[in-house]
Amino acid sequence: MAGRKTPVMQQFAEAKRAYPDSILFFRMGDFYEMFEDDAVLAARLLDLTLTSRNKGKKDEIPMAGVPHHAAHGYIARLLELGHKVAICEQMADPSKVKGIVPREVVRVITPGLITEREQLDASTNNWLAAVEPGEGAVGIALLDLSTGELRAAALPDPAALLGELSRAAPREVLVPAAWDGREPMAAALPRAAVRQDAALDESEAEQALGTLAADAVGIAEPARLAAARALRFALACNPGAELPVRRIASWDPSGAVLIDPTAQEHLELVQSMSGARETTLLGAVDTTKTPAGARLLRRRLLAPLLDVERIRRRLDLVELFVINPRLRDDLRGLLGGIGDLERLATRAKLGEANPRDLGALRDGLLAACQTALLLDGVDDPASRETLGLGEEPVDTVDDLADELSRALVERPPAQPKDGGVFREGFDAELDAESALKKSGAERMVELEARLREETGITTLKVRYTRVFGWYIEVSRSQLSRVPESWRRKQTVAAGERYTSAELDDLADRITHAEERHRELELTLIRQLVRRAGAANARIAALSSRLSRWDVAAALADVAHRYDYSRPEVDDSEQLEILDGRHPVVERLAAAGRFVPNDVKLEISGEHLWLVTGPNMAGKSTLLRQVALTVILAQMGSYVPARSARIGLVDRVLSRVGASDNLARGESTFMVEMRETAGILRSATRRSLVILDEIGRGTSTFDGLAIAWAVAEYLDEAVGARALFATHYYELTALAEASEHAANHSVSARELEDDVVFLHRLVPGAASRSYGVAVAKLAGLPESVLARARAVLAALESGSHGAAEPGAEGRPRARRVSENQLDLFAPPAEETKAQGEVLETLRQLDIDRLTPLEALQLLARLKQRL
Ligand code: ADP
Repeated sequence: MAGRKTPVMQQFAEAKRAYPDSILFFRMGDFYEMFEDDAVLAARLLDLTLTSRNKGKKDEIPMAGVPHHAAHGYIARLLELGHKVAICEQMADPSKVKGIVPREVVRVITPGLITEREQLDASTNNWLAAVEPGEGAVGIALLDLSTGELRAAALPDPAALLGELSRAAPREVLVPAAWDGREPMAAALPRAAVRQDAALDESEAEQALGTLAADAVGIAEPARLAAARALRFALACNPGAELPVRRIASWDPSGAVLIDPTAQEHLELVQSMSGARETTLLGAVDTTKTPAGARLLRRRLLAPLLDVERIRRRLDLVELFVINPRLRDDLRGLLGGIGDLERLATRAKLGEANPRDLGALRDGLLAACQTALLLDGVDDPASRETLGLGEEPVDTVDDLADELSRALVERPPAQPKDGGVFREGFDAELDAESALKKSGAERMVELEARLREETGITTLKVRYTRVFGWYIEVSRSQLSRVPESWRRKQTVAAGERYTSAELDDLADRITHAEERHRELELTLIRQLVRRAGAANARIAALSSRLSRWDVAAALADVAHRYDYSRPEVDDSEQLEILDGRHPVVERLAAAGRFVPNDVKLEISGEHLWLVTGPNMAGKSTLLRQVALTVILAQMGSYVPARSARIGLVDRVLSRVGASDNLARGESTFMVEMRETAGILRSATRRSLVILDEIGRGTSTFDGLAIAWAVAEYLDEAVGARALFATHYYELTALAEASEHAANHSVSARELEDDVVFLHRLVPGAASRSYGVAVAKLAGLPESVLARARAVLAALESGSHGAAEPGAEGRPRARRVSENQLDLFAPPAEETKAQGEVLETLRQLDIDRLTPLEALQLLARLKQRL
């Protein structure tokens, strides 16, 4: 932009220079204006009118604006699109400064650093992730500025990193500028803005960690640096603020069941393929009453435990609420009034809490106090221990609750400047100002009456408008009686408006009182916010205790309502689920008619079940319900079964049939094989492997061969407990060959030609003939069905030269058989060619071959094959 800039535009340019990669919201009066490229971009993204400043002049520049009171909606949309927004505020009241108003960027809002409740999902943490590759390990930090949590860990490899990231589902990820893992990460995390972040040296790390450095002492180096990276970013985005982060929690990813991203998706733990929440496991068990409880439950669900003791302690707490329904119901009633203490306290710490937030904090603390009282009424020592109650009463931050109660009116407004925040009697000075304000108004009423009398103008009115202030209005017919000393202010349709020395004097006093009142109120609000901010750590501790109760009571509620039972989790090799159900299907698709099933696997015993059965029989449902039961048990929940014994599972690995997620662009077979390879690589003896219709993405031949090899490998090389659903009938032969594998089938009964699904798992392989019956169900024409039955009969008779069963001109059953099914007996022709090739190789004298001859021979052999 050529030419000299006006002071305001210089101010803008400076702010923009400091925050070049953010869209700058530049406060001018009641608007946030955007200029230059920001204006063009924002106008397009937000559908704003693009105007210009200094229109028609040499220094004309693009401009777009949004009213400040509606800004958060626009900001939310920009964040949703991955942008950062820098808020540049006026730092003084424009009416009180001469010349240009000072302006400063007070905050940069990015998707990973949102703290406004309206823009957050109450039941999910809003993580900003930072990545720091180190030697032999990669550091990860997760920061939720809205709750003040910071966690850091060192992970062995990029795969583990992706696993943790997909569990956390961050909104934003900071990676070092020159790091080659950025692209794959961005591809794997479509919801996150992946940003390059400058390198971090030791002194910057120290500075960013600040007082948290002491916490960071025991933490692995890359984890410490990742935490520092996250903090540096948050500090830069909140200049001058004290971050609400209380400590760095180092976490050990190997302490949780590893649920790979594919399994997380396939099992629909927190997100369903359709997007509906009620079809996820989380949707089925989350009846928490507080947002912090919902967040905790979600986190536990994605990271079940590997520590038998901890799992039992969690289960003990659930059990306590299962066997004390009164306590549970009372508790849940009170929890409903608590709201989001954690996020409110954090906003106070950041100085962002408004009067309405303070009111919500007061209400939440009062409810928390009652909750603690309720539980403190439990006097059985064992129960008290399970509840985590000691000698000392729970700190419910009563001092702050009291102060807020004394200070605030019932429903304080959101905007501080709207006034009417405080109760009478809270602050003497404020009360005095408000009395002055009030008496001023009364004096005006008196003045009106007196003036009417003095002048004899019966229609005289003393009134106030925001724009013109106080005035005396006289109707047209009585203008002649207006005293000389009044000054005319304005002409309106009904008459004239005047002012007088006395009126001015009184108006001044009222205005002054109002101003004093407003300023005092703002000061008192700031004080309260500071007080609340100072209690941040105590409130967070209270909130975390409440959320643990909330989760346990919610799980107990589900257990009670849906008849779940307490699982036995131990170090054994068993996985025994009796009358197990699928927590979602039993409530939705098969509500009221779900057929429970038993599954018994044992690492050193029968650890691989091949599950066959026609389509729609319930194979995938069975497989998933086993995985979900294990996850529920190890997160410390009751399970949908009559009984369950779970010998710890270290990983849940799963792979779903190709047809179920065709939406991806990549070759489905390639995806399937890559995921299968990943599973085989990472499965251990203690893992639970769920394979559903593997090999379906390719021809029958390849598919069967691969499925066979995979099942064999799982059985022999891995030895994990595994369920393998397949429609390849031929695979059932594997069970006969292995002592650790067994055939089971989901039964269906044929009635005439129809099939009735019984959904009952029974020992033994399924008959292969259901397919045709299912096809009939689906409405294939009768002629096609008849032909299919004939072809099937020919196949089952096993003779390749079976008589042609159908009419002329149709493919013969023999062809189908040769091409597709007889995998383990190669066709005669190929055997002959192979024999010749082998013979040639045997007779070959390599020493007498030139390289060229060798190549030519190779080509010939290949051609022969
Ligand atoms: P498959 O994997 O064998 O094709 P699914 O597991 O997808 O079959 O099940 C098909 C449908 O059958 C499910 O959507 C559900 O409605 C019903 N179903 C599955 N298992 C059961 C069961 N145990 N009891 C009752 N209905 C079931």
